[in-house]
Order: sequence, then C-alpha cells, then structure tokens
Amino acid sequence: MDTQDLMQESRAHICQTYNRFNLAILSGSGCNLWDQEGRQYLDFVAGIAVCNLGHCPPELARVLYEQAQQLVHVSNLYYTEPQAKLAGDLTSVCFADKVFFGNSGAEANEAAIKLARKYSRQRYGLGRYGIITMKDSFHGRTLATLSATGQLKVQEGFEPLVDGFRYVDFDDLDAVAEAIDETICAVLVEPIQGEGGVRIPKANYLAGLRQLCSKHDLLLIYDEIQVGMGRTGRLFSHQHEGVAPDIMTLAKALANGVPIGAMLASSEVAEAFTPGSHASTFGGTPLVTAVAIEVLRQISRQSFLDRVQVVGDYFREQLLSLHQKYSFVREVRGRGLILGMELDFPGGEIVIQCQERGVLINCTAEKVLRFLPPLIVTSEEVDRLIETLDAVFAQI
Ligand SMILES: *Cc1c(COP(=O)(O)O)cnc(C)c1O
Repeated sequence: MDTQDLMQESRAHICQTYNRFNLAILSGSGCNLWDQEGRQYLDFVAGIAVCNLGHCPPELARVLYEQAQQLVHVSNLYYTEPQAKLAGDLTSVCFADKVFFGNSGAEANEAAIKLARKYSRQRYGLGRYGIITMKDSFHGRTLATLSATGQLKVQEGFEPLVDGFRYVDFDDLDAVAEAIDETICAVLVEPIQGEGGVRIPKANYLAGLRQLCSKHDLLLIYDEIQVGMGRTGRLFSHQHEGVAPDIMTLAKALANGVPIGAMLASSEVAEAFTPGSHASTFGGTPLVTAVAIEVLRQISRQSFLDRVQVVGDYFREQLLSLHQKYSFVREVRGRGLILGMELDFPGGEIVIQCQERGVLINCTAEKVLRFLPPLIVTSEEVDRLIETLDAVFAQI
C-alpha cells in the first residue's frame, strides 16, 4: 500500500484521536526508519522515548521469537519464570522491593494511585486520599491518570474527573508545602517533565519533596515512564539526585516497544496490596517480561550509561552552538539524551521541515523541540541532525 492509500484507509476506520504526520513507516533498524516508498529517515523520536535500544535490535528479536515459541501467556493464576526474574532484576537496581506489572504507563500510574490510596486508608482511615501533582505534568489518559495530569487540554470534555488531585507549580517546594493538609496522602512527580517541555527542576527539588513527604508521612511517587531506563545517563533519572521515592512507575522503554508497564514500591508500602486488590490479564506475560529482562541487562551496564552521558553532552554542545547562532532559540536544556530546544515561536513547522529532509524530531509544549534519539545514537548521527536543523533554521 502506498502512503496515500494507507492514510485514507486509516482515516476511514481508526478513531481520529491522533494528529498524525503524512508519513507511514514500514520498517526500522537502529536509528533509521523507512517509509512505505522506501525513503529513509534518521529517527530522533524513538517512538517517544520507547525504542531506547533502537529499532529491531537482533538480540531482542531473538528473545521475542524464542519466547513466542515457548510460552506467550498463561494468566497471573500461575507463576512464570521471566516475570519472577524481571521483578528480581528490577528490584536489584533501585530502591524498590516489589513490582506490579501492567501494559502501559497509564496503567502503571493507575496502580501507583490505587496503592497510595489503599496504603493511606489502612493507616489513617477514610478521607486521606488526595494526591498533589504538578501543573504541566503528564501521567496518562485513563480517567484517574488524566485527572492526575495537570493540563486542562487533557481533561476537557471528560469531567467529572476522579476526585482528590491538587495541582501545584512544578519546581516550587513552597507550593507543595502549602497544598498539604489532612486529606493528602501522596505527591506524584516526574523527575524531569517530558511532555511539559523537558523541564529540569532545581537540584534540591526532589530532596525537598522527600523531606516534606517524610515530615507529613506522605508517599513520594516518581513517574519515570519517559526519563527512566537510561534516558538521562543513569538507569533512573532520580538517581542523579540520589533521592529515593516510595513508589516509581516505568513503561515506555522497559521492553523497547513491546507493551509493558511496571509499578515499583518498597515492601512496606506494597503490603497494602493483597490478593484481589489489583490485577491485569496481560500484566507481566512471559513474552513481554522476557524481552524486558534483556533490555534491562543491556541498559543497566555502566559502560552503556556512560556512553549515553558522553553522546548526550556532545549533542547538547552542538545544540548550544545553534543557540549561539540563532537568536530565536530561547534555551537549550536536558540531561543525557532527553534534550529540549525552546524557540520564540511554535515548533510544528520546523518538525515538518526536518521530516522533509529525512530527520524525525518532535515538538512538545508548543515551542519546545524535543530530541529523544535511541540511546545507541552515534555522534555522527547527532551531526546529521544538527546539520539538518542548521539548514532549516537558516531559511527562517
Ligand atoms: C507516556 C507517558 C505516560 C503514559 O504512558 P502510556 O503508555 O501512554 O499510558 C505517563 N507518564 C509519562 C511521564 C509519560 O511520558
């Protein structure tokens, strides 16, 4: 099918919830994608921070193929080895003791919200179920997670929202302190806001949140769905600050594109979940967890993470040189390989211009070009992106 036919077919039969580009992707390898007509693109989106090991790495294809031949699904009525092993591997590389598996970021956050409520109910009784979240945050599209998300455009039309969320400015500890009262049980935050425009809080922010939470016996929940799994040059973004949460959510890159979500918690908190508290048919199937085991093995290697830091620093320097050159570039920010370039004007047209030159980038928060390449990206590929941006900027 050519792109035109495919677009027509999709528009006829798929709910129109997405604003898509006029581009249909047929295949991928490493940091490259090919469209239906065989044109090649350098991919600095990586499925929005999902394909951290690039497209179709052969080792993952092999794991997927071999596991598909052995066992795909049996339900959580039974134990399976890949699920147990992944949970053991995940808890050995972070603060957590226990994991709940789902299929997406939204589901991981749903589990976190339910766990926080249940934990608080057991300790304090009724009425203490509020969760403080941040303005411009993004936590998902289910009713509870869109209610947690501090953006009207995500919520509009779906009211009444799930009760109990209180929104405060990101990176403002005083605002959190002011919002705490006897109804609050938790604080939910992205260590770096992704959809909100690649916003990195001040160095003491997570420590300050930790202090407030400990003082008021609130659970601190990190949404690491976008910035976890090596994206920032550490396995989890909060490890830069060394401030552990009580609950953390993962999804996106955890299985490099095979759908998975995970909610991780300390055992004290996780004990609030008992048989029957929560469940998911597809949560943690042997198929997806076998892939995630291999993803985690590769990404958690120190040499891999060090390389993310080195290439990320190089990338950032190159973006800063464009900042010097073009006065309409307001700011360059980011950490590791999540980088943002804020412009004086909406970035949508720049994204399309780059696509026409064979490079895929993304724009978020209207004016922020967001770069999320596969973590295996090379400095040569970074150079190609920079040359393309330079050429596009020169025409403005
Ligand atoms: C993508 C994302 C989600 C939602 O994940 P889905 O898999 O789309 O449900 C939640 N939080 C953050 C920070 C995200 O980037």
